[in-house]
Parts: sequence; C-alpha cells; structure tokens
Amino acid sequence: MRAAVFEREGVLKIKEIPKPEIIRADDVIIKVELCSICGTDVHIMSVPPGYEATPGTVLGHEICGEIVEIGSAVTTVKPGDRVVLNPNDYCGTCDYCKNNYPNFCEHIRAMGIDVDGGFAEFVRTSEKTVYRISPALPARIAAFAEPLACLLNGFQKIRVMPGESAVVIGAGTIGLMFVQMMKAAGAYPIIVSDPNERKRALAKKCGADITVNPLEQSLEEVVHSQVPMGADYCAEVVGSQMRQAVNVVRKGGTVLLFGVNKKAECQIAQSRITQNEIAVRGTWLANATFPRAVRLLESGVLHLEELITHTLPLEGILEGIELMKTGEGVEILIDPCLQEENK
Ligand SMILES: [Zn+2]
Ligand SMILES: [Zn+2]
Repeated sequence: MRAAVFEREGVLKIKEIPKPEIIRADDVIIKVELCSICGTDVHIMSVPPGYEATPGTVLGHEICGEIVEIGSAVTTVKPGDRVVLNPNDYCGTCDYCKNNYPNFCEHIRAMGIDVDGGFAEFVRTSEKTVYRISPALPARIAAFAEPLACLLNGFQKIRVMPGESAVVIGAGTIGLMFVQMMKAAGAYPIIVSDPNERKRALAKKCGADITVNPLEQSLEEVVHSQVPMGADYCAEVVGSQMRQAVNVVRKGGTVLLFGVNKKAECQIAQSRITQNEIAVRGTWLANATFPRAVRLLESGVLHLEELITHTLPLEGILEGIELMKTGEGVEILIDPCLQEENK
C-alpha cells in the first residue's frame, strides 16, 4: 500500500510499504477514508522539529475509515463499520491509567507519531481505540473527531456560560472550533486574534464578534475596550502566546493553554497571575471525550464544512503541510483513494 513515511528530520516520503496485518487478537484493520493534517504534523516536519516523531513512522492521527478486518477477540465492531479513532492508545496498567488519566499514560502509543498512522491506505489499531460513527456522517466531518475530542477535554476545564466573554488566540482548525463551541455556549463577546486575514474572515463566519490582527492592533487594548475588566476566558491555541493570554483575562479569569510548541518559552510577570488570581490551565489530548465528540459531530451543531480548505491525495501531503505553514490552508484533508492526477 501507499503511505507517507517520516524518514528523518524534515523528510517525508510517499512509499510502498506492506499492508498492516492483524497481530494481536484485539487488533482491527481500517481502510482510511480521510486523514486530516494537524498542526502537530507541521511541527513534526519543521527543521528543527517543534514536535518529535519516530523516524520510519507513517504520520497522520486524525483518522476516519471503515473496518475491513478484525482479530479473533474483537467483539464490539465488525467489518463494514465506520469508525473514528483515538490515536493515543494507553496501556491501562500504569499509575496514570489506573487513576483515570489515560492521556498521561506512561506507555502511551501515539499513532501517526511513534506508531504507524493514517496517511496511508490502511492502518492497524486496537479495538479499544475505535468509536463507531453513523453511516450518515460524512467522512469530511468525521475527520474532525480527534481534534474535537481534544478540544472537549479542554472545554470542560473552562465551562463557558451564556453571557460570559472569551478570547481565542489563533484561528486554525482548533481555534475556529473553539469559537463555534463558545458561540454555541452563548459567550459574548467572542474576540479572536490571528495575523492571517483569511483565518480572521473564517473566525467571523464561525461566530466571532470581533477579530484582531495582532500585528496591527493591540489585542489587550481591543479586549479592554469591549470588556473593561478583561475577558472571562482566553483559549490559547498557538503554543507561544501565554503572556498575551494572561494579559487579556480579567481578575479571577481563566486561561486555557491548548497549543503546543515545544520550542516556545515565555517570560511573564508572575505577580500578575498571583495578584489577579488567574487560573492557567493546561489541557492535553482527549480523555473519555470521544463519545461526546462523535455525538456533537452527528448533531450538526458545529459547522465544520466551512473550515475545509483543501482535499488532497496522499501525494499532495507536502503541499498540504506547506499550505498549513503559509496559513493558506486551514483544515486540509488527505484522501488516500484520490489519485494525484484528479486532485
Ligand atoms: Zn492533532
Ligand atoms: Zn498507562
């Protein structure tokens, strides 16, 4: 089968590799319908990398597909079922797993980072990582399940209430989903900061009341002109803007740090957090939030089709990563069934 293999720093190649086979009794083999490019994939492909992946691994972790084969012990899904999957398989036996934090598992197996992922025609995973979806749910929408499950894990830490104000820093796929979620929760005003004009326009479409280009305007000033105390919440979806996030929330407000950039460090006046009683919360991966993510996608509450800017064949993946880097692409789907000529 064809697959996009991360060879070494900065090098990703489309190669013919053996199709995965059932190894363990709880394995399932999935024919990939779509796999979206995540900001993490862009960080992995940067030189030097902003996120480490294991050389030789097939990338891709936001996967939707159809089960084509199951191991002898599999009981909850069967060939023909369509599924999304949690790419972070956990061991179930370490201290974190036993304390109900599978997202912090000490032996986590991250598909598409350390274990072969979904930028391929087929992928193997364990039955315990898959979630069945309705036959009526389009793959284009189902492909959002993994980022949405991670977002919901963060969202339950802020619990935005109707009439509360929110700032979102970064308007990529996750930031735009945050905007739609906050809108659905009744937040007002929702202020979004992103230097990219296309993303700001999308943010408006998603429900942002005000958008800010941080290269031209001070986000802090705009926020305080709208909400004199400062915003109740700020979701930081970039991975390097914590200082900005802390400066836009009110006393007693909450900052949610969602974005990850391992190269970024920030200098901050710690007293601002202390004296203003600001809560700064991290959030990492999904934790029992996949079932809710699937229900939310099936409900149609979110309008995700408008975030999709490109659908490319496997061979278009480097182009897709470039489009993400330049900000021209927002949600980019890779369809392994598409042939290069008819993209
Ligand atoms: Zn991701
Ligand atoms: Zn574990």
